[in-house]
Amino acid sequence: MATGLESVKPKFLDELRSIFGGQQPNYCYQCAKCTSGCPVAKFSEDFRPHQIVNKTLLKLEQQLIPQEVIWICAACHKCIERCPQKVSPYEVIEALRNMASAKGFVPAGYLTMAKSIIKTGLIQPIRRCRRPRAAEGKIVFYDRNTLNLPPLPMPEKLEIFASNLQQIGFGEKPKKGV
Ligand code: SF4
Ligand code: SF4
Repeated sequence: MATGLESVKPKFLDELRSIFGGQQPNYCYQCAKCTSGCPVAKFSEDFRPHQIVNKTLLKLEQQLIPQEVIWICAACHKCIERCPQKVSPYEVIEALRNMASAKGFVPAGYLTMAKSIIKTGLIQPIRRCRRPRAAEGKIVFYDRNTLNLPPLPMPEKLEIFASNLQQIGFGEKPKKGV
């Protein structure tokens, strides 16, 4: 009979501790104040920082490392400010992402962004903005040019920037394995 304990990895927390250093998630008493103020939790029912901290403490690696939910944190640090126990759910999530990357679990969208940064210095191509104008019954396109905005600054030495990123394996598809 499955008990749910099959996915407990005894060394998981020790491995994570070596990534997040002095952070003390074990001080968490599950008040959920982090989640109640988290802007991402307002839009995603799956994203609950207090549950991520709890699953981390319970060493439920399979429920965290291969899951895309750990990648949607917006890194706003609000959870750190709200926690009465000085726990940082954000740093726990960052450590989980580091471990997930090392084990090959990186969402495809992140790899696409990484490739775009290496190629252009930007996370995504500059796109035109499309707005309907109901009164005129037409769709109008805007870009930086039509809005009289200056061009975006680009890395001056993109080849060096890209080569440095590639040397650390940035943008490469990692091999999976928990
Ligand atoms: S991390 Fe802090 S705010 Fe979040 S549940 Fe734990 S004690 Fe509460
Ligand atoms: S840092 Fe991440 S988990 Fe913390 S409040 Fe912001 S989005 Fe939520």
